[in-house]
Amino acid sequence: MSVIPSQILEQVPLKCAEGLGLALASDQDGAVMVFKWCNKAFSETTGYSSDDAIGQRGKILIGPDTEQGTHLLIIDKLMKWERFSVISNSNRKSGEPYRARMSWTPLSDPENGDRWWLCSLIELDSALETSAPARSDTGTAPDGAVVTKYSEEILRLEKENRRLNELARTVTKESNEDPLTGLSNRRHFEVEFKAWVAALRKGGPDFALIYIDLDRFKPVNDTLGHDAGDRVLVSVSHMLRRVSSETDLVARLGGDEFIIMKPLGESALNISALADRIVEEMRTPFTFDGKTVSCSASVGVAIADTKMSSPEQVIADADTAMYHAKAHGRGRWSFFTAEMHAESIATKRLATELLVAVDRREFVPFFQPLIDAATGRISSAEVLVRWRHPSKGLLPPAEFLDVAADMGILNQVDEIVFSQLRELLEVFDTSEIELPKVAINVSAGRLTDPTFIHDIRTSGISPGRLTVEILESVYLERMGDLVSWAIDELNEMGVTIAVDDFGTGHASVQGLLHIKPDLLKIDRQFIQPMVENETSRGLVASIAAIGKSLGTKIVAEGIESEAHAYLARDMGCDHLQGFHFGRPMSAEDLRQKLIRTKGQFWHPAPDMSVTAGAVTRGSTA
Ligand code: C2E
Ligand code: MG
Ligand code: MG
Repeated sequence: MSVIPSQILEQVPLKCAEGLGLALASDQDGAVMVFKWCNKAFSETTGYSSDDAIGQRGKILIGPDTEQGTHLLIIDKLMKWERFSVISNSNRKSGEPYRARMSWTPLSDPENGDRWWLCSLIELDSALETSAPARSDTGTAPDGAVVTKYSEEILRLEKENRRLNELARTVTKESNEDPLTGLSNRRHFEVEFKAWVAALRKGGPDFALIYIDLDRFKPVNDTLGHDAGDRVLVSVSHMLRRVSSETDLVARLGGDEFIIMKPLGESALNISALADRIVEEMRTPFTFDGKTVSCSASVGVAIADTKMSSPEQVIADADTAMYHAKAHGRGRWSFFTAEMHAESIATKRLATELLVAVDRREFVPFFQPLIDAATGRISSAEVLVRWRHPSKGLLPPAEFLDVAADMGILNQVDEIVFSQLRELLEVFDTSEIELPKVAINVSAGRLTDPTFIHDIRTSGISPGRLTVEILESVYLERMGDLVSWAIDELNEMGVTIAVDDFGTGHASVQGLLHIKPDLLKIDRQFIQPMVENETSRGLVASIAAIGKSLGTKIVAEGIESEAHAYLARDMGCDHLQGFHFGRPMSAEDLRQKLIRTKGQFWHPAPDMSVTAGAVTRGSTA
C-alpha cells in the first residue's frame, strides 16, 4: 500500500463531504459520551462549530422529533457497543430541523482501553426524503411491537447497568482495602501518598508518616498458627484506628507493617504523642482463647514538609527511623534524623556482608563452660556463635544476630555452627578430655525448620550429649504441630531440652508447662543484682522453686563473682555459668583449659554461704 502524503491526509477533515465526529465514551456506559473532535462538514450539518461541539453529549444529534422506536434503538446499540446506522430527525443548533443518515462505529484505544464512537452524518435531501420513516440497518421501520420490545430491553439493560456500576464501586473499594483488617492497602496508600505529595508541592499541609512494624511477629505466626497471627493483626488495626483521627490515612502495607499518614497541623507534638500511644498500646499483651500473646511494635516517624526537594523520600526516612527503633531495643519509636541515614547505609552493608558470610561459612562456634554447682566440675559447654569477619575480626552475636534474624538467615547461621561441632568434639575425645555435654542455641525458626531434627540425627553427635536451648519459648505456648513434633523427637532421642533466658519475657511459665524442659536458665539480669538486692534473691529463689516443682534443673547465667556463685547455689541453682568461670572461648582455648583444670573449674567450699551482701565462712558451731 502506498503511503498517503500527510498533506493529503490533512485535507480529509476539511474537505470530506460527510460529517465526522469522534466522541469519548464512559467506559461503564456506551451511551454516555462527550465529543472531542469533529470535521467541517459535521459543523455545517449540525450548526455546531468545532468549539461548540467539543464537550457536547451525543444527544445533540437526536432531535425531539425522533421516533421513540428509533431513539430506543440508538440507545440499545450504543449500550451494547454495536455498530449501527439510522435515519434520524434532528435539529441544528439554531433549532432548524434536518434529516440525516447517522452511522456509529465503536473504536477502542489499545493503549489505555478507552472507548470511542466515530459518528458519520450524511444530510438527506428533505425534498426527496420527507416521508421516509426512520430506519435501522436492517431496514425495518419500528412498529408498536418493536417499541415495546425495545422498552423492555432498555429497562433490562438499565438494571444491568446499575448492577455493573455497583459492582464497579465495590471492586474499587475492595481494591483499596486490605481484606483482613479493612484498613487501606498498599495500593491505596501509594495513590493517596502521591496525592498528598502533589498537594504539598502546591503549598498543601506538611504531613507525618508513622511507620509501624510488629516485633517478632513471625514466630507468633509460625508457632501459634496463622489464625492467632491474623487475630493479632486485626487487633492492631482496631487500635490504630482508635488512636488516629478521621483525617489520617491508616494502611496495612502487608505482613506486619502498618503506616499512618497524618496532616501535621499546628505542631509536631501531636505526632510524638501518637507515636508514644501506639508503642504503649502495643506493650499490652493480646488475649484470646484464654491465651496471651505479647507483640511489641517498633515505630519510625518522619515528616514531609515544603522545604524538602523530594518529599517522596519521607517513606524511606520513616522506614529508616523504624529500623533504628528496632535496632535500639524494639518496642519503642524513633524520629528520623540525618545520622540515621548513615546508620541505615551501614545496616544495608551489614546485610550484604552477612549473605556473603553465609556463603563462605564464616561463622564459628565458641564455648562457655557450665559448672555443676555441687561439685564445681564442668557439666557442659554452651556453644555461642562468633562471626570471623574478614576485616573486623571476631564479632559477637550482638553485632549481627538481629539483622540475620530479620533477613531470615538465622537458620543457616545455626546450621553452619552446628555442622562444625562433631569434628571439634572428636578432637576433645581423642585427647581423652572429658566434656560431658554441649548446648546449642536454637531460635523458634530453626526448631520448626524440617531439616533440624534430620541434622541432629545425622550429626554423629550422641543425642545424650546434646542440649538444645530454646529461645523465645513464649511463642511455643500454643505449639504448632511442627514444634510439638520437634520437641517430642528431641525427647525421644534423649536430647536435653533447656529453656533459655527465663524471666526476660521471651519465656513464660505457660511455655514451661508445654515444653516440660529438663533445664531452666535464669537470665543474668536477675542473677547479677542478687548480691546487693534482696528482691532479686527472692525472685531467683521463686523461679528455682517453680523449676523444682516441675522437676526441672536450674541454671544461673551471668555468674561474675564468687559471691554470685555461692548465692545462686544457695538459692537452689544446679548449674552455674558466667565470666567468673570463663568467657566464651575458642574450641582450642577450651581444650587447653580442660587439660589445665582437669575439668575442675571451681573449688566451692562446702561450708560457704552468703548472707546479704557478703560471702562468709559458715559457723561450724
Ligand atoms: P544466651 O544464649 O543467653 O548466651 C549467654 C550470653 O551471655 C552470651 O553472650 C555470653 O557471652 C553472655 N554471658 C555469659 N556469662 C556472662 C557473664 O557473666 N556476664 C555477662 N555480662 N555476660 C555473660 P553472647 O555470646 O554475646 O550471645 C548472646 C546471645 O546470642 C545468646 O544469649 C543467644 O541468645 C544468642 N546466640 C549466641 N549464639 C547463638 C547461636 O549460635 N544461634 C542462635 N540462634 N543464637 C545464638
Ligand atoms: Mg543460650
Ligand atoms: Mg541465656
